[in-house]
Amino acid sequence: MPDTAKDPLDRAMGALVGGALGDALGMPTQLLSPARIAELYGHVEDFIAPFANHPVSKGLAAGTITDDTEQALLLGRILVESGDRFDHKRWVNALLDWERAVKARGSYDLLGPSTKRAIDAINSGVPEEEAGRSGDTNGAAMRIAPVGIMMPLEPLGAFVDKVAETCRATHNTSIAIASAAAVAAAVSRGVAGGGWRDASASAVAAARRGATLGHWVTGGDIAARIVWAQDIVRGKAIRDAIRLITDLVGTGVASQESVPAAFAVLEVARGDAWKAAVISANLGGDTDTIGAIAAGMAGACTGFSRLPQQHIARLKGIDMSEVRALAADLVTARVAKSASGKDAAA
Ligand SMILES: [Mg+2]
Repeated sequence: MPDTAKDPLDRAMGALVGGALGDALGMPTQLLSPARIAELYGHVEDFIAPFANHPVSKGLAAGTITDDTEQALLLGRILVESGDRFDHKRWVNALLDWERAVKARGSYDLLGPSTKRAIDAINSGVPEEEAGRSGDTNGAAMRIAPVGIMMPLEPLGAFVDKVAETCRATHNTSIAIASAAAVAAAVSRGVAGGGWRDASASAVAAARRGATLGHWVTGGDIAARIVWAQDIVRGKAIRDAIRLITDLVGTGVASQESVPAAFAVLEVARGDAWKAAVISANLGGDTDTIGAIAAGMAGACTGFSRLPQQHIARLKGIDMSEVRALAADLVTARVAKSASGKDAAA
């Protein structure tokens, strides 16, 4: 059997499919409190169907992915189609088409608050590139993995600029760009062959740089909060770590809560994607997004071949051949960029 552990394509697939595992596992628990999760489902450690009256996930089958995975794949396609200059109009239209399709299939899990606000602004005449000036929630970070797959981490300035470019229409704020840069950097480091600790260090550096871009908004510093969130859970038993994440870091849709929470989960799971997904699913709050981010970063650092294939086989709403084609296109673009850069591993 060939060693796929350092293969960029395997790691790219690990990022996308790892994210899907975290997303689908958290689908039935999203928006609930930890106590309600325990009462309804017990400890979640496998795909389950949401309870009948779940506010956004009702009716979905166990193992179904949500907006996190769908929008990441969508962004990936727009990146490939855009070439060097990100096509904002194409991206916004893709998001609009996506929401129409989601509504048509009767889903209640629609666009998040920042993306929705930006699209409303565009519909009332604001140019695509200016609509995201107040978007500070976690939607950019949740779907950013394809940028990390496509872009070599060095030079860091170009890397973070590309992240910021894809955030412009919906999340053009210091907090959202820092958050998306952190997650993308962790994925990129993984695709280049790095482990989860290397990935966390790269994330902090990228978040610092990302925080200088976009419209400044108030909120805790993302880089500092990632370092802090990982510090407070390091070496802790899972139950204690979960308590620290829910009580102190926070699991809300705010970037400064859910993104550091995802890094804390990565730390507690010690880079194991499925463990990260399980921890996230039981946190309460934005479980599916925290799970998608944490397990996606973990998957990038282990590769697809080391993810639990028996769970992957039960994912619903995802076309694995489509994911593989996208991962290949993104890695091809990365290799072309790396040929003139310093990212020797990919
Ligand atoms: Mg979701």
